[in-house]
Amino acid sequence: MALKDLFRGKFQDRIAALFVSGKNREEILGELEEQLVLGDISLPIVNRLMAVLASGTRNNDPREEFLALLRRELLALFPKQPRQPLADGSKSVLLLVGVNGSGKTTSAAKLAHYFHKRGRRVLLAAADTFRAAGSTQLTLWGEKLGIPVIGGDRGADPGSVVFNAMQSWQARDFDLLVIDTAGRMQTKANLMLELEKITRVIAKIAPGQPAETWLVLDASTGQNALVQAEKFREFSAINGMVLAKLDGTAKGGTVVSIAVGMKLPVLFVGSGESADDLWEFSADDFVDSLLGK
Ligand code: GDP
Repeated sequence: MALKDLFRGKFQDRIAALFVSGKNREEILGELEEQLVLGDISLPIVNRLMAVLASGTRNNDPREEFLALLRRELLALFPKQPRQPLADGSKSVLLLVGVNGSGKTTSAAKLAHYFHKRGRRVLLAAADTFRAAGSTQLTLWGEKLGIPVIGGDRGADPGSVVFNAMQSWQARDFDLLVIDTAGRMQTKANLMLELEKITRVIAKIAPGQPAETWLVLDASTGQNALVQAEKFREFSAINGMVLAKLDGTAKGGTVVSIAVGMKLPVLFVGSGESADDLWEFSADDFVDSLLGK
C-alpha cells in the first residue's frame, strides 16, 4: 500500500456524499464542517478551514471547487518545503523518544529497515532498559531484519548502552545509528534527565549528534496523542515526529491536528505491525488519501 491509499475510501466517501444534488451551499458547508470534526481535526483548525471555504465558495459551485479549496488549505497547514531527513548518507545518529507503548521500538525497527533497504549501514541501540522486554524486543527485530543491535540488561544504565553503541558506530563501518529509549519513568523530571544524559553521551563522542531526535506518537489515540507529547515539550532537541499506528484510526484528521498542534514536522508514518509498514510522510500524498485525487 502507498501513503496516498492509507485513508482512501474512509473520509473521502463521506465528503463525496455531501455533494448530492439539491443541497445548497449552507447545507454543504454545515455538513462538511461536521465531517471534518468527526474526522478528528481539532476545532480551531476546522474553524479556520470553514472560514476560508465560506468566503471562497459561492452557491452552485461544483464539488471540485470546494474540494480544491479544502485541499489547498489542508496543504497549507504543513511546512512548505518538507525536509528529507537523513537523506545525504552522512554518518548520523537518530534518537527516538516517546511515551511507553507509543510504538517507539517498532518504529525504531521499521526506520532501521527503511534506511537499510536504501543501502545505509545501520546499527540499532536498545536503550530502553527500563522495560523488561525492551531490549529483547529490539534484538528480535534486529535478527529478523539482519540489522545488528547493541542492548543492555534490564535496569542497566541507558547511558552506558548508548556509550557502547556510539563506540561501535564510530569504530565500525556504520553510517546510521538508531537509538530506542525508555518512555516510562516515575516522574517527568527523571525522564528528561535521562534523555539529557543520553544526548550528552552522544554529543561528547560525536559533537553535533544526534542530528535527529524524533518524537514517536500513537496516532490511534486521536488528539490524546497531544497529551502524550506534553511530557516531551521541554525536550527542545526534538526536530521531527513519527506518527505510529495510523491503521488504528479511520480518522486521518488526527495527523492534521497533531502536526499543527505540535508545530513539528511529521517525517514518517507507521501503519501496521510489519517492518515495511512505514512511509516517509508527504503532505501531498496524505491529503490525496483524505480527499481523493
Ligand atoms: P514502545 O513501548 O513505544 O516501544 O511501543 P512498541 O513499539 O512496543 O509498540 C506497542 C504496541 O503497538 C506493540 O504491540 C506493537 O506491535 C504495536 N504497534 C507499533 N506500531 C504499530 C502500528 O503502526 N500499527 C499497529 N497496528 N500496531 C503497532
